[in-house]
Amino acid sequence: MAIDPEVCINCSICEMICPVAAIKSEYDLKDSEQQFTEINRRLANTWPAVNVGDGPLPEADAWSSRRNKVEFLE
Ligand code: SF4
Repeated sequence: MAIDPEVCINCSICEMICPVAAIKSEYDLKDSEQQFTEINRRLANTWPAVNVGDGPLPEADAWSSRRNKVEFLE
């Protein structure tokens, strides 16, 4: 999932409810995580919009504990 920074109002609700703490405010990113702001911005303009919540994808549990996932975003 990517969050459209032009639409997000920085309410932080998604940070609070994400079950795997995968969402962080760009203001809370460490220097080593700054790359994700630009990756998110680019993907938000590329990936299709999700307008319904159907629950987690079938592979969510497998991905939730996987490290170094950024290589799969390019
Ligand atoms: S829930 Fe998350 S993505 Fe939606 S407006 Fe709030 S901070 Fe932005």
